[in-house]
Amino acid sequence: MTTEVPVSLVRAIWRGFRGRCPHCGEGRLFPHFLKVAHHCEACGEELFHQRADDFPAYLVIVMVGHAVVPAILAVEMAYAPPVALQLAVWLPVTLFASLALLQPTKGAIVGLQWQSGMHGFAQAKELRDASNASGAVMQLASSRALRRHRPA
Ligand SMILES: [Zn+2]
Repeated sequence: MTTEVPVSLVRAIWRGFRGRCPHCGEGRLFPHFLKVAHHCEACGEELFHQRADDFPAYLVIVMVGHAVVPAILAVEMAYAPPVALQLAVWLPVTLFASLALLQPTKGAIVGLQWQSGMHGFAQAKELRDASNASGAVMQLASSRALRRHRPA
């Protein structure tokens, strides 16, 4: 019997952010830019249960907006450059930052959903929890058995 170490919420989110399977951290989460894999190629974990929908895009808008808008205002207040220059700089920065953050953010959301058993991940989480609980019981029983048979 194999006992798995439970994956913490932070670890699952970090694995998703890195584009890796939240369960094993090895398999790729995204075969294409924003397309989540049907299942993990390394451990076989079902990943199609994710329902990230538009949430990653909303988060990216909030993050990029909170970084770019103050920067635009600060540059405007300090240097007052021509509008064309502002647009030439900030539009590509906004576009690049949004595209760069979209996949990691979606992966983090998938990791969050997987670890907390949201949507179709609920059954897999129940199985993991039951497996971890029975594994803990087995470890406890074997450690007690070892203590009982330890020479005095
Ligand atoms: Zn995996």
